[in-house]
Amino acid sequence: MKQYKIAIVGAGPAGYFTAQALQKAQDDEITFAIDMIERLPTPWGLVRSGVAPDHPKIKTVSKVFEKIAKESGFRLFANVELGKDISLKDLREAYDAVVLATGSTIGRKLGIPGEELSNCISAADFVPWYNAHPDFTNVSVDLDADTAVVIGAGNVAMDIARMLALDPSELEPTDTASYALEIFKASKVRNVYICGRRGPEHAAFTAPELRDLPKLENTDVYIDSDQINQAVIRVDQMGEVEKDLRNNLEAMRLIAEHSKKGVDRKLNINFLAAPKEIKGSGKVEEVVFTINEVKDGKVVATDNTFTIKTGLVVTAIGYDAVEYPGIKIENGRIANIAGHVEHNIYVTGWAKRGPVGVIGTNKSDSSDVVDLIIENLKEPKNSTGVEGLLKSGHEVIDQVGWEKINASEVISGELAGKPRVKEVDWKRLISLGTS
Ligand SMILES: Cc1cc2nc3c(=O)[nH]c(=O)nc-3n(C[C@H](O)[C@H](O)[C@H](O)COP(=O)(O)OP(=O)(O)OC[C@H]3O[C@@H](n4cnc5c(N)ncnc54)[C@H](O)[C@@H]3O)c2cc1C
Repeated sequence: MKQYKIAIVGAGPAGYFTAQALQKAQDDEITFAIDMIERLPTPWGLVRSGVAPDHPKIKTVSKVFEKIAKESGFRLFANVELGKDISLKDLREAYDAVVLATGSTIGRKLGIPGEELSNCISAADFVPWYNAHPDFTNVSVDLDADTAVVIGAGNVAMDIARMLALDPSELEPTDTASYALEIFKASKVRNVYICGRRGPEHAAFTAPELRDLPKLENTDVYIDSDQINQAVIRVDQMGEVEKDLRNNLEAMRLIAEHSKKGVDRKLNINFLAAPKEIKGSGKVEEVVFTINEVKDGKVVATDNTFTIKTGLVVTAIGYDAVEYPGIKIENGRIANIAGHVEHNIYVTGWAKRGPVGVIGTNKSDSSDVVDLIIENLKEPKNSTGVEGLLKSGHEVIDQVGWEKINASEVISGELAGKPRVKEVDWKRLISLGTS
């Protein structure tokens, strides 16, 4: 029987699904000792700090993560950051394989004038702010204007627009950060525009999320039915297309046609609107858009523009992976060939593919990377794990420590009628997890 030591860096979905695939691959001949390393004092990645608070069902995947963590041979080392507390070189030498599952957290820039104005915020800051990520509690968010613009045409843009357009009473029973909830409650925003630069047929929204929009209780959602009809004509001319695309367009048509409630909270989805410039003196005041059109299957700019007066712009146009010593970034992802980085280093999840796919997509990705690891394994190394690499006195939060934090948050949540009340202070998190 051989036992291999595997380090998984990043305790998000891709990290847990990698651990699960390793656990499933064990047999009479090989077993795995899995050390999961996470920079935050808490695990679960974007399931904790990305998924929208008004979609609590999605977060129940964390039950699967906790089951994986209970299997023998699994250890959590939270509050340990690769590139700061430990180096990739040390990990590589100490483990038979290292899997980087560190996600993508840098918000991509529009690259247009005015992006630096105050209250032009990247989704990479806005989302972890409302989700109580301890690094983002101080993001300055001003919801004092009647109109907000969200730039991007994917599910992240849609989450943000929904959070801005919901009646804040709907967020009361959720795990939205309490400081953010107070700001949402005082919000003057009543019109939210989602603007995508391409056509409805190119949008990255997914149909289940689109189908939920007409069900919003206190918000009317608008899409111009002409834009959808023209997209359907273009798609019909393309011949055979993926079923998902037809489902998306159908979901958009339903939004365009469903009867409105006549409420004052409005969410508008605009296509073929490319941001050209954000204007304002010190703070965002308006966004100028170029009107695009689709010609011979290509999105091209017209000479026409339009302007939306707004007090807030949130950009949600994708994320790039963070760079740390020993890692090369290519096209926003950790450079790799089918999940192999170099030597005994592998990559999975958003760090490997970029910010695409739902939580489940990371499962097949991680299972493929485990197949590759097993194929390349040599004789097991004889070395100590993370504990031998950390400075003495480093405060590690292990699985038991995390369970203490979790229990404390859930108990506070029960008292407040919420799934949990997240602790947002680094020091208190560490003290809860190491007490
Ligand atoms: C706003 C938003 C909403 C979403 N909503 C949904 C949804 O409703 N449904 C759905 O199916 N999918 C949703 N997704 C997609 C889903 O969250 C991703 O598919 C998934 O989280 C990617 O998993 P990952 O493990 O690759 O990355 P992540 O979840 O980002 O996990 C990466 C982990 O690595 C840690 N880490 C980073 N750097 C280091 C380091 N140097 N050392 C140690 N640890 C490190 C991070 O702290 C983090 O815990 C959403 C994504 C976003 C951004």
